[in-house]
Amino acid sequence: MLLLDGKKVAFFHRKILVERITEFSKQANRAPGLAVVLVGDDPASQVYVRNKEKACGEVGICSFRYNLENTVAETELLTLIEKLNGDPQVDAILVQLPLPPHLNTERILAALDPAKDADGLCPENLGLLWGGRPRVIPCTPHGIIKIFAHYEIALMGKRAVVVGRSQIVGKPMAQLLLEAHATVTICHSKTQDLEAHTREADIVVVATGRPREFGRNMFKQGSVVVDVGIHRSPVGSPARLCGDVRSEELEDWAYAATPVPGGVGPMTITMLLENTTHLAELRCLPGF
Ligand code: NDP
Repeated sequence: MLLLDGKKVAFFHRKILVERITEFSKQANRAPGLAVVLVGDDPASQVYVRNKEKACGEVGICSFRYNLENTVAETELLTLIEKLNGDPQVDAILVQLPLPPHLNTERILAALDPAKDADGLCPENLGLLWGGRPRVIPCTPHGIIKIFAHYEIALMGKRAVVVGRSQIVGKPMAQLLLEAHATVTICHSKTQDLEAHTREADIVVVATGRPREFGRNMFKQGSVVVDVGIHRSPVGSPARLCGDVRSEELEDWAYAATPVPGGVGPMTITMLLENTTHLAELRCLPGF
């Protein structure tokens, strides 16, 4: 089985990014700036944010962290976003999701200046994506498309199934596969006979958030399997972290698959760096 090594692909893309960031910094007389807004103390979100900041430092992006209390009022968060929208040092803004339930995620994302929307999730940027003219592409599906490209996984004419329909992963993933001329089916928790869909597919992207629920029986032999999930492993599992797929069952079954960790995760972060650089170039360099 071909291992779709996200760390290796991320390393390749980060090398190119460093050159772009050096050039940007020369021309703009400052580094690209990413503001990261973290609400609350969810341990997983804190780890993700720390990893993102570390990655920014490694490629030369300046990151600004804003920590808000779990109980912050929506108006206070909106005021912060308004301030960041107007800050000339900030090229991109990431609001770490999920937000606490008392905050309206859609309203928060809609408040982002579309020209600074690091994950491409505000209504204008989603509209551009659905229209086939994206300004910024949501990081996780963007990273998956780059993995396919790196390993020359053909998408045109292939049958692709995306399991999960979230705004951040499933829906944009399906749209990108469609743009790449795959024939796409989106499945979700109400899909009947899920297995009948996934077993027909040449490519399956699993993003359900259900640890190790998908085994070899869910996939056609010789298919390409992308596991987006990332979880602490249930007791008795072979590894400390796991995905939505029981990856050890794919070894002599799938044609190719992403590992967890080291698959989609590193590419999600790399695409955040790329989106930040891209937005900085669009805002500040003539001719972009
Ligand atoms: P959400 O919880 O927002 O969405 C999960 C989706 O899966 C929903 O559409 C849900 O259907 C569907 N689903 C849940 N259970 C089943 C099932 N048994 N069969 C079929 N469909 C099902 O999650 P996200 O999309 O935000 O994230 C998915 C996973 O990916 C999580 O584990 C998350 O941690 C991980 N993730 C990893 C990233 C990375 O960089 N590696 C980045 C982002 C997320 P319905 O809509 O009907 O409820």
